[in-house]
Amino acid sequence: MDMIRGRFAPSPSGRMHLGNLFSGLLAWLSVRSSGGVMVLRVEGLDPDRCRREYIDQLVEDLHWLGLDWDEGYGIGGPHGPYLQSERTDRYQAAFQSLEAQGLLYPCFCTRAERMAASAPHRSDGQVVYGGRCRYLTREQRQTLSLQRRPAWRLMAPDEVISLQDGLQGPWAEHLPSQCGDFIVRRSDGVYAYQLAVVCDDSAMEINQVVRGRDLLDSTPRQLCLYRLLGATPPSFFHVPLLLAPDGRRLSKRERDLDMGALRARFTPEALVGLLAWWAGQLERPQPVSPRELSTIFRWDRVPSEDITVSPDLFV
Ligand code: GLU
Repeated sequence: MDMIRGRFAPSPSGRMHLGNLFSGLLAWLSVRSSGGVMVLRVEGLDPDRCRREYIDQLVEDLHWLGLDWDEGYGIGGPHGPYLQSERTDRYQAAFQSLEAQGLLYPCFCTRAERMAASAPHRSDGQVVYGGRCRYLTREQRQTLSLQRRPAWRLMAPDEVISLQDGLQGPWAEHLPSQCGDFIVRRSDGVYAYQLAVVCDDSAMEINQVVRGRDLLDSTPRQLCLYRLLGATPPSFFHVPLLLAPDGRRLSKRERDLDMGALRARFTPEALVGLLAWWAGQLERPQPVSPRELSTIFRWDRVPSEDITVSPDLFV
């Protein structure tokens, strides 16, 4: 098998929380236990949400935890730049290739119009786009474009796209009925995550993606883009999410479990030990360094189900 090239791809839209650390640690362990290459790419597509101080903080937090990388943000490498906001020309080239294939169309729908369409909701809360703007005439497009800047959608191919996830097993989606034509460029001009992540992972020769299970249902869209852009997809491992005791998914809003609060309460080894225990790598939470863990790491011990964290972490 080829050498594993994995990545951390955090979004600097807030301080990392326990869930980000959990998937970051697993991505790192998978690479380090196999002698592969780790890449850090900072996923700051949205200039309004990503701030410099968050990027510096996230690099510092990863170092504190004992996670390192061989290529990427802060150290450079052959596939830079490693900050998404500096890679817009790549996304534009991919966009143009899709456009040249006749696969894109402008969408003038407002959020309210999309929400009002009587399509079922997806598990991620998005509506299935009903295709309202797909069949507009040239004249209608011209008129509408005087009123509003469009988003751009990709026509979803009428087929089932399936994958074998390393942790979650088989997964398949029929994009037209379960997602609809999806956005590759937003109306404010920002390229969509789905397009950017595929461009970046393929340009950076990433062949293994380890990330949270909440992104499993993005994967068929990404596989569709890999094919249309003529790129080879990586293998995927979608790891469990960490849930608060009341069943909520941890998020960046959960300030009490962000890195600031965690660093005040734990040593790096104690925190890594807790994450490793949740990840099925230790029989009990006990201090351990990422380096030591990488010598015993095994994917077949990682649970696939979400993990509810203990209430005393919230006090
Ligand atoms: N940037 C995304 C996040 O921080 C991860 C995207 C990915 O791993 O594909 O949640």
